[in-house]
Amino acid sequence: MSTLEIKDLKVQVNTEDGPKEILKGVTLTIKDGETHAIMGPNGSGKSTLAYSIAGHPRYEITGGTVTLDGEDVLEMSVDERARAGLFLAMQYPVEVPGVSVANFLRTAKTAIDGEAPKLRTWVKDVNGVMERMNLDASFSQRSVNEGFSGGEKKRHEIAQLDLLDPKVAILDETDSGLDIDALKVVSDGVNRFRERDGKGVLLITHYTRILRYITPDYVHVFVDGRVADEGGPELAEELEANGYEKYLGTTV
Ligand code: ADP
Ligand code: MG
Ligand code: MG
Repeated sequence: MSTLEIKDLKVQVNTEDGPKEILKGVTLTIKDGETHAIMGPNGSGKSTLAYSIAGHPRYEITGGTVTLDGEDVLEMSVDERARAGLFLAMQYPVEVPGVSVANFLRTAKTAIDGEAPKLRTWVKDVNGVMERMNLDASFSQRSVNEGFSGGEKKRHEIAQLDLLDPKVAILDETDSGLDIDALKVVSDGVNRFRERDGKGVLLITHYTRILRYITPDYVHVFVDGRVADEGGPELAEELEANGYEKYLGTTV
């Protein structure tokens, strides 16, 4: 059981021209077992929402609340958010030179669970995940994100999702830069996660393509830092056909 509740969230960033309000009051509730898609034009604030929930220091919360099962997420450190059960896969994953995928995964798992995973089952779990993600066994020995192709980065993210087993996963542009085979592997990984009990997914995407493989329960249209429309999966199809034009100001 888990509920991520975002209420009237307002966020600003500091730019050279002073503070700029990006999120202008976002309200969204993800209950357990639900997959929500956020769609919207470039620059509408989708990644800002993900970074703000992740606790990125660049984004200043000026109003509203974010809670996970009633606990104040905004008061938590980045580590505490992960331990509380939030998982964030980022549009631009960072490189961690010198740290192998295997060590990175084990360290993250240990930090989140509060104890090291049992070695025997862990190795089996990791190998199983690598195989399902269509990643070569030698991938575990490479430095995190160093020289990874776009597809490898995304597969590694979904391998993390599988092993870390969070309550709520926030996936930002998980489909960008993927060829059709990688998209299928990544989507299958997300769908396997969804099949587990009580998992919530917030899937952020500019394109409708991934939603053909991951059918969301709800679709929210993001425009200019606000939710401009909401509906079921049929809304994604409508966006596919008509784009975002009807939500944009006529003066644009
Ligand atoms: P999306 O993910 O929907 O494309 P973003 O959240 O990345 O949108 O950006 C929303 C708006 O906020 C854009 O106008 C962008 O230029 C601005 N913005 C986002 N992050 C920063 C930042 N760190 N500094 C300055 N402006 C930013
Ligand atoms: Mg479901
Ligand atoms: Mg973005």
